[in-house]
Amino acid sequence: MPNSTVAVVGAGLSGLTAARELHRAGVDVIVLEAADRVGGRVLGQTSTLGSCFDLGGQWIGHDHDRVKDLATELGVTMFPMHTGALPTVIDGPRRVSAMGPSMLVVALAMAGFGVLARVGTPAKWNASTLDRWLRRVPGRTARRLLEVVALISWTGDLDRLSVHAAADMIRHQGGLSTILGTKGGAQESLLVESAGALAERLAAELGPRVRTGQRVTSITRADRVVVKTASDDVRADKVIVTAPPPVAARIAFDPELPVNYVALQRNTYMGSVYKAVFVYRRPFWRDRGGGEFLVLGNPGSAVFDTTAPRGPGHLCVLVGGPDARELSALDAGARRDAVLAPLVAHIGAEVLQPVDWQEKSWHCDEYVGGGYVALPEPGTTEGFVPMPCVPVGDIHWGGSETASEHPGYLDGAIEAGRRAAAEVIAALEPPLDSQ
Ligand SMILES: Cc1cc2nc3c(=O)[nH]c(=O)nc-3n(C[C@H](O)[C@H](O)[C@H](O)COP(=O)(O)OP(=O)(O)OC[C@H]3O[C@@H](n4cnc5c(N)ncnc54)[C@H](O)[C@@H]3O)c2cc1C
Repeated sequence: MPNSTVAVVGAGLSGLTAARELHRAGVDVIVLEAADRVGGRVLGQTSTLGSCFDLGGQWIGHDHDRVKDLATELGVTMFPMHTGALPTVIDGPRRVSAMGPSMLVVALAMAGFGVLARVGTPAKWNASTLDRWLRRVPGRTARRLLEVVALISWTGDLDRLSVHAAADMIRHQGGLSTILGTKGGAQESLLVESAGALAERLAAELGPRVRTGQRVTSITRADRVVVKTASDDVRADKVIVTAPPPVAARIAFDPELPVNYVALQRNTYMGSVYKAVFVYRRPFWRDRGGGEFLVLGNPGSAVFDTTAPRGPGHLCVLVGGPDARELSALDAGARRDAVLAPLVAHIGAEVLQPVDWQEKSWHCDEYVGGGYVALPEPGTTEGFVPMPCVPVGDIHWGGSETASEHPGYLDGAIEAGRRAAAEVIAALEPPLDSQ
């Protein structure tokens, strides 16, 4: 592989993993990242108390072994999420009884949906959206609870997410109990130094091979590939694109991509999600019944106790879909109050006085486009996970959406990065009879 250059578009976990594999195989690699930071959908922060937390992807699922191994390798420490049996569901000052009729309706609806996901829904349900399905659920509280769970699980507006697509995602993500679960599920563990530290440490290993502030505007395939940014033309033998399809759609491909890829980029979108982490000297809520809530008001939110062992208290708040976009219209103080005020009646006014807090509206991120994962438009089929990744000439595709296991997750990003790198290494290898 002497003198081969590979350009990787995007310094998220997938692009950095791919670049590291290539670098280790002796390939000359350049990572071009549009933003002025690495990480993409992961973003670590350090609080004024010195604790680390994530504004992007953070949880490690029970069987997400690739992230676990990478964390161990990079010296990043895992800890189990502090969690009770079930989150407390709150509707204003009221706690929704876990044994009441609303929760029974929710349990039945979820069980029904879980069965649908397992056996598969008919293709015609691809035109039927989740909001239409939810309208049939009896009772305002049960409906709102299912709505908030769906918005936080997928971040897509429910009139823009088909029942078929949601069922398909549930199946690929290991079932509803895995998606929503902590112990044994997708929210089992966290990282003391943050998931952002994984990206930062990978980038540090790659050094000057990672160039930030380099948005790729076009990719032209000729005898070599020309990857154009505002300040540079990089000539490469192979390119790995790791931005999710609706984001990669902003790159001009010459010649144009095959129709299935054009359709994939056109028929997928990124969801809307707001995330905030509030830092307190100690997790005071643990003396008051816990810090895990599903909030049914406006905004609907999910609240988690993401405090690390011996760390200061961390309360993590997630808001999905239209509620997340409405928050973006407020100023920062009003947003903080909007997400914290519903908790006062349940854990006390102390919650309004964090020592520090950070927030991010991912749908406003110019280069990431939203979260957590690219979603298919109702009625279309190209964007079902895993999304297509057959190389187009010298263009290879990474990105969590293309992973065969845990697509949409950190683990999937690593799998996809490794797979794309292996494809490129195999393609660059001289044929055996010429060696
Ligand atoms: C709020 C939030 C919470 C999440 N929570 C979890 C969680 O708890 N657990 C979990 O496993 N997963 C979670 N995820 C999902 C997880 O973060 C992603 O699946 C994963 O980080 C995707 O990595 P990636 O490298 O495939 O894509 P990305 O991280 O999106 O990387 C793509 C990169 O390409 C760059 N880029 C885009 N266009 C261009 C261009 N034209 N030129 C150059 N660069 C470009 C982008 O800036 C970005 O850095 C969450 C995501 C979000 C947003």
